[in-house]
Amino acid sequence: MTPFAFARAADTADAVRRGRVPGAKYLGGGTNLVDLMRVAVEHPAMLVDVTGLPDTIEERPDGSLLIGAAATNTAVAGHRAVRTRLPVLARAIAAGASAQIRNMATVGGNILQRTRCAYFYDHEGARCNKRTPGQGCDAIDGFNRMHAILGASAHCVATHPSDMCVALAALDAVVHLQDTGGSRTVPLADFHLLPEDHPERETVLRPGELITAVEIPALPFAMRSDYRKVRDRASYAFALVSVAAALDVQDGIVRDVRLALGGVAHKPWRAFTAERLLKGRPASEVLFTAAAAAELADARPLRDNAFKAELARRAIVAVLGSLAGKRS
Ligand SMILES: Cc1cc2nc3c(=O)[nH]c(=O)nc-3n(C[C@H](O)[C@H](O)[C@H](O)COP(=O)(O)OP(=O)(O)OC[C@H]3O[C@@H](n4cnc5c(N)ncnc54)[C@H](O)[C@@H]3O)c2cc1C
Ligand code: SF4
Repeated sequence: MTPFAFARAADTADAVRRGRVPGAKYLGGGTNLVDLMRVAVEHPAMLVDVTGLPDTIEERPDGSLLIGAAATNTAVAGHRAVRTRLPVLARAIAAGASAQIRNMATVGGNILQRTRCAYFYDHEGARCNKRTPGQGCDAIDGFNRMHAILGASAHCVATHPSDMCVALAALDAVVHLQDTGGSRTVPLADFHLLPEDHPERETVLRPGELITAVEIPALPFAMRSDYRKVRDRASYAFALVSVAAALDVQDGIVRDVRLALGGVAHKPWRAFTAERLLKGRPASEVLFTAAAAAELADARPLRDNAFKAELARRAIVAVLGSLAGKRS
């Protein structure tokens, strides 16, 4: 591992001041960053530990939640308001990693965790445009069973690995950012980028910018929400496909819906096409099937992952069907 400096941020202002140093990276629980340093994919000159920054989960009068970026995944999934009002988020987090990792992992770090593409990790043996821009991508003609079917490019076919972010995308979450110049907010659905010609650019984050919090607006019908993760084994595996959904059905009509997919794209995939098709129509398996098909119409499978489109279609229909059958 390359030597690096280390500092513990006293507060947010101290963190962003230290984060301006060239080569500095923020350190959350370290469950992804330290692994990447060990395999020489990441080599920060300085780590700024931000685990001492705000980690509170605030229930606000308008029904929204404001979650400090240093909150652990365990704390968020176990919070009463999250479990009762946003089950999709609690279940998405609980579906990820292991209890020990969730105890360490933070909200900020989870959002910025990097792809699990095996070629990305193999810095000595594989070509990777994300790791070394312009080098080529060994996944495109390699073993690409876990890779993207939506929104990929000729330069990168990696997926975003987070479960939590799929739920946050469905819930219209907003990411709060700060640097020495001030603060701004970005909808989570716009925070991660598709690979296009520059897969090394993964988010809209500016150099030195810190995630300070995630805001989840009030969404009363999210009490009827769920997360389903399809994976190779029951625990400790990343999603082949996942579905986050919240559904509002009244008198048999879909009044409102939020739908997002994981494991299929370089970013959490908000299923806007399916949502548009669902709204205002009678809830039925036929409708859910048509909406899923419309969302996946642009799927471009690779050699080893043609099964993902059908898997995603079935998972969407199953989750919406089960939510439609539940009473709020
Ligand atoms: C064996 C294993 C299995 C896993 N399985 C799953 C799974 O099934 N599903 C899933 O979703 N995840 C899974 N994970 C990933 C895990 O969820 C992430 O490693 C974790 O969420 C990262 O959080 P962290 O706080 O440890 O981030 P770190 O490793 O500390 O940081 C990750 C990145 O975020 C940056 N960062 C951290 N905090 C901030 C901030 N506040 N502002 C700006 N930048 C910041 C860091 O600089 C770094 O680039 C798994 C991990 C492991 C090791
Ligand atoms: S898919 Fe993306 S991350 Fe994987 S090897 Fe290709 S460029 Fe790298």
